[in-house]
Amino acid sequence: MDKPTVTEQPPPYSATVPPGAPPPPPQQGANTSYPPPPPGYTPYGTIPPPPPGTTYVPNYGATSIIIQPPIITVGACPACRVGILEDDFTCLGILCAILFFPLGILCCLALKNRRCSNCGAMFG
Ligand SMILES: [Zn+2]
Repeated sequence: MDKPTVTEQPPPYSATVPPGAPPPPPQQGANTSYPPPPPGYTPYGTIPPPPPGTTYVPNYGATSIIIQPPIITVGACPACRVGILEDDFTCLGILCAILFFPLGILCCLALKNRRCSNCGAMFG
């Protein structure tokens, strides 16, 4: 029942690599097919990190979209901003104006819509 003494500690790495061994000198001027990369060269497939102090803004390749405030100019279509809103009386309003004249005119004015002459959007 005599267990041999086993050292749990692995041998030091200094045993494999003798200290003081000089690294292989770089081959300068040798006929190598792989020249050393120039300064600033990034390896293939890696993205260089942005320089410190600058915030990275993702660019989606589109121009900056300026969101205009919802200012509706008088007579302009807020949907397409091209057409002009025109008063469009609904059939129900005209019918009320005829049947209930003259009070029906007020109903007709209340039921009128503003319709875009370009895209045809209706705005109450
Ligand atoms: Zn429009």
